[in-house]
Amino acid sequence: MSKVRGWCPSAWRPMLAGDGLLLRFRPPLARLTRAQALLVAELATGYGNGAIDLTRRAALQLRGFDEAGWRAAVDRLVSAGLVDPDPAIEAVALTVAPDWREGDDTHRVARALMARRAELPSLPAKFGIAVDAGQRAVLGGTPADLRLERGDGGGLILRPDGRATGVRLKHGQEVEAIATLADWFVASGGAAAGRMARHAAVLPNWAAGGVEPLAGEVESEQVTPRYGRLTGAELASLAVGVEALRITPWRSLLLECEAARPTAPPSSSDIFPGKRRWQGEGVTEGCRGVGMSLGSPEATPLHQPSAGPPPLAGEDEVRVSGPAPVDARWLQASAPAPSTVFACVGAPACPQASVVTRALADRLAAASVAGPIHVSGCPKGCARSAPAALTIVGRGGRYDLVRDGRADSLPLLRGLTPAALLTHLGAD
Ligand code: SF4
Repeated sequence: MSKVRGWCPSAWRPMLAGDGLLLRFRPPLARLTRAQALLVAELATGYGNGAIDLTRRAALQLRGFDEAGWRAAVDRLVSAGLVDPDPAIEAVALTVAPDWREGDDTHRVARALMARRAELPSLPAKFGIAVDAGQRAVLGGTPADLRLERGDGGGLILRPDGRATGVRLKHGQEVEAIATLADWFVASGGAAAGRMARHAAVLPNWAAGGVEPLAGEVESEQVTPRYGRLTGAELASLAVGVEALRITPWRSLLLECEAARPTAPPSSSDIFPGKRRWQGEGVTEGCRGVGMSLGSPEATPLHQPSAGPPPLAGEDEVRVSGPAPVDARWLQASAPAPSTVFACVGAPACPQASVVTRALADRLAAASVAGPIHVSGCPKGCARSAPAALTIVGRGGRYDLVRDGRADSLPLLRGLTPAALLTHLGAD
């Protein structure tokens, strides 16, 4: 029977998965320079099995390492400034709104918080901090426990996850407020709950504000690999011709092109107002090339299978593919279209999974089964935490079916074979 683990892998604490050691890290400020991206591509291919996953917390997961390869890769990531040499500091889960610009509030607070990470208390493994201080809060759907956001009226607020409102903060007090609330979480027994939203203790008076966040969305064009996975060769192809890549929590990448770097003063409302700031006129040749791929007629929208239904079978269909040239088909044709099919890596790559996931998700999508569809290898639901119209969860080598729920919701049907599931959904 699969077990849900209570810890998260990191660069310093890799997880043994079905395809070898899994190494996870968050690039500082969610940004990889071109050189750093090429290094990551080289490490993924040279020491791992070439697979790179983008996670829902804007981390990168490199897969398929052995012990020696993991150690060599981590040393080089530390040298490149992508992993902190102190495992305790590296473990602080800091998610940054990826459309920041130099000198704006997200950039300012995230840098200050990174410099003071050592002052934070020891927090539960899944506890996260979101610095989301653009003109609109865009990380509302991203897992985090303390949220620094733009509040109604324009100033910044600190909002504990699970509460609808936050407390307004004065300029320059943000990091102190985050650290103080993190201290309170630990001192008030929050570690037992593990997450802020589950912690029932009454907030201290100073933190119990009534200001709602101003929610919005990132409008920049994004490159969205299918199921958030790309190969080292694909990452290298993207990196050539851009100045940097931004890692988003939507399992996508923003391309930062040299000529498109913003030069306006900080805190302007003109933050990457559209795709042209990333790929438009006057940008470098490489950036223009990516933009052309994104808009090309050959581009296939994400999750739209280009051929007939793929077979539902075992390891071959979910085996990690080796390095390959970048393929415009996995570039999202327009930004940011909502995804309707979600699937974790499943078996055999994840030891918690007893079933294949992505081959099944492809099969259901090809049969036009109504979504959103979430196929999860186990009740942990790594690919999606929000409810979906149809959620299929692996258990003991078979599938449970949930309607309008999450991977850990009560199933409507249990123990279906692949054939029975497909027949029930009209996808056989
Ligand atoms: S949801 Fe999928 S990837 Fe996550 S632990 Fe379960 S089987 Fe593994």
